[in-house]
Amino acid sequence: MADDLTVKGAVIDTVGELKDPASGDTLLDAHILDDVQVADGIVTIRLLVGEELGQQDRWSLEDAVADASEAIEGVREARVTVFVRGHEEASAPPGAPAGAAAAAASSGPAAASGGGASPVAEKAGGRKPLGSSGGGAAATPGTLEGVGRVIAVASGKGGVGKSTVAVNLALALQRQGYRVGLLDIDVYGPSLPTLLGVNERPNVHNRRIVPLVAEGMKLMSLGYLMEDDTPVIWRGPIVTGIIRQFLQDVDWSGTDYLIVDMPPGTGDAQLSLAQSVPVDGAVIVTTPSDLALIDAARGLHMFETLNVDVLGIVENMSWFAWPGAPALRSIMEDARATAPEIADRIEAVLDEHERTWIFGRDGGQREAERLGAEFLGRIPLDPEVRRGGDEGRPVVAAAPESPVSEAFLGLARRIAEARPLETGDSPDAGKRKGLFSFMKS
Ligand code: ADP
Repeated sequence: MADDLTVKGAVIDTVGELKDPASGDTLLDAHILDDVQVADGIVTIRLLVGEELGQQDRWSLEDAVADASEAIEGVREARVTVFVRGHEEASAPPGAPAGAAAAAASSGPAAASGGGASPVAEKAGGRKPLGSSGGGAAATPGTLEGVGRVIAVASGKGGVGKSTVAVNLALALQRQGYRVGLLDIDVYGPSLPTLLGVNERPNVHNRRIVPLVAEGMKLMSLGYLMEDDTPVIWRGPIVTGIIRQFLQDVDWSGTDYLIVDMPPGTGDAQLSLAQSVPVDGAVIVTTPSDLALIDAARGLHMFETLNVDVLGIVENMSWFAWPGAPALRSIMEDARATAPEIADRIEAVLDEHERTWIFGRDGGQREAERLGAEFLGRIPLDPEVRRGGDEGRPVVAAAPESPVSEAFLGLARRIAEARPLETGDSPDAGKRKGLFSFMKS
């Protein structure tokens, strides 16, 4: 077997001759090949690219370098890290140690299905799944081609309604005139296929995965890679590879807002996932209960560690409204003319008891204030929300005028204000927004 020094020379010779997609110069001439280390047949390569190189080109370059290196005799594994010039420290994945990402080297999505290609990889015309090349840590996430804004919906713990908020927020943005995509990377329970009642397998066209469409939104979910009812244990690096494939190979073009349903929690998996997705802003979902709030704070800190802007905290399941209240209010109004005292007494009781703050009152707002984060609003606990989710027709689609849908619309407005589209973000975003303002006025 060739010794490490010989291998290093061969790697520099071979990789150095590859072309920089931006300038067309060789990687050596363009000073992109920054460092090569070889130890025991494992090659660690550091690339330093200019900011002008887009995310997809970076990934392609990373793959090409890993492929070229692994073809060299004596190379057992290649670990490639791409840094953006001037952001070398920032682009090093904090908390996502090179080891975790580099492990992706040997385990692309193929590993998820016991050695066979993943369904997506198979359908993608035999295209090599991302992550199988030895491609290592992602560089600073850039923007996604054809996508205006990427918004992550996250939570510190499961069961707080994160997916429900993600899907209804997406629908609410769509109702406001935006073109919306939904990406579900909740490893522990990808639920968007159920929430939207779409369970087909995605197709491939021109080597691009065609996202499914639900309620007029482009949709892709880890759920489409899982067999029904089969629990799948996804290792972090495998998921990272699949997610990169979801981002790179899925045709998201013409999407104003891509809503990403993140896995709950703040472990290593979440860190590397958040690192893989070029996020413009994150929304943290919590219930007002103390336990959920502690985890929400952890979630918020995780995004801060990753230099992802947290747009704010949204409180879900804030209160339960007594369903008899609207009818009683109308009786109260009738009574006011003849028995104003009784009307007042009914009103006092309703004001106090119409809403039950099941998980405590105002916890989300207090926590947002404590953490110096925006409070994005409250979503009531409403059986219609649960029913909509179970029946595959989320409440914003099924009952757009209902109070709970109004709450989601308010949330969508705040998100769109916090991360407005810029001219050029998507082909007719300006036009659509213009149309919407016209409709509102
Ligand atoms: P997570 O993604 O945080 O695990 P889900 O979105 O799957 O949580 O929601 C968990 C359950 O709670 C689902 O049955 C969902 O329908 C229900 N749910 C979520 N939000 C609400 C709400 N505001 N009102 C009523 N039920 C809700």
